[in-house]
Amino acid sequence: MKILELARPDIRALQPYQHASWEPSLERLHANEMPWRASGDTSVAGLNRYPEPQPVELLTHLARLYGVAPENLLVGRGSDEGIDLIVRAFCRAERDSVIICPPTFGMYKVSARIQGAGVIEVPLLRERGFAFDTEGVLAAWRDGVKIVFVCSPNNPTGNLIEHTTIEQLCQALADRALVVVDEAYIEFADAPSAVTLLGRYSNLVVLRTLSKAYALAGARCGALIAHPEIVSLLARVLTPYAIPEPTIRAVLDLTDASHREEARARIATILAERARLAQQLSQLPLIRRVWPSATNFLLVECTDADRVLQAATAAGLIIRDPRSQAGLANCVRITVGTPEQNDRLLKSIREASGATA
Ligand SMILES: *Cc1c(COP(=O)(O)O)cnc(C)c1O
Repeated sequence: MKILELARPDIRALQPYQHASWEPSLERLHANEMPWRASGDTSVAGLNRYPEPQPVELLTHLARLYGVAPENLLVGRGSDEGIDLIVRAFCRAERDSVIICPPTFGMYKVSARIQGAGVIEVPLLRERGFAFDTEGVLAAWRDGVKIVFVCSPNNPTGNLIEHTTIEQLCQALADRALVVVDEAYIEFADAPSAVTLLGRYSNLVVLRTLSKAYALAGARCGALIAHPEIVSLLARVLTPYAIPEPTIRAVLDLTDASHREEARARIATILAERARLAQQLSQLPLIRRVWPSATNFLLVECTDADRVLQAATAAGLIIRDPRSQAGLANCVRITVGTPEQNDRLLKSIREASGATA
């Protein structure tokens, strides 16, 4: 398959680590584990045992959740691990590079730097609501650019990138680069996932996570969804027993039908609170502009961001200061909280504005 030719030749030739084979019907005397559990270990499988490398039950469950075939999916410790794996498997240090579109999620650049890969920045178009600069990205592509990161909806600007844009990129960059669509917030957007495009583009990779909409950030679990050959290649780079046993259980238990219903209801509450927070913030003198959001946070331009940050802290709340990123002068990023937290934040900013007058 052509797309694998983009991967590092040494990774393609890699002889993977031979982990202890998974034979649940046999008693394990092959992995140098203790035969007894630690006292108080009430886990289902026993923490004395190494977990299953790509746990079939979890894999099947997530594949169903995201509407893809199990062979399209790699489970990892959050989408952060997916980002890191792709960069490591595809970018040769000092030679290859990635394209990112700032302001955007910080891990793309960090993972590339750790790998020794170059980072080419093609900024989002602020004057057009942080629209994606497809022409700019295609013009910036050159030999050795292996990955284009597309964050949709984008963190921290909150806007969704259209499927037509993603398709244009996949078509124009076929056999030239992977298009990695990070959908950490897609459950908060009224839009379908790019996994629906998977059958058409072998260079498309979609990242999903349980950290945001499913309230499982502490479990560290995410999915990388791509062509089966990309999935197999990355599985060989993934550390052998990546998913801890407590995470496997927690995810299976906490994303069952009743929890999915709970997630839907809570997302609806977040969306209602997002609208209320946006509307009320936009009335305050310290706030210049609230950007539209398809996520569970708001990017807010202030007249004086320092005073807004201080007001939040004084009310016992912490909001994000993203001002080190180009294009975000005087901005703050606010995660939508409970109605009570949102009220407290609004009150603190309102009172801080009053003090100006
Ligand atoms: C939060 C976030 C992630 C990290 O997700 P994990 O699955 O917790 O690693 C990835 N991408 C974006 C854009 C995020 O905002």
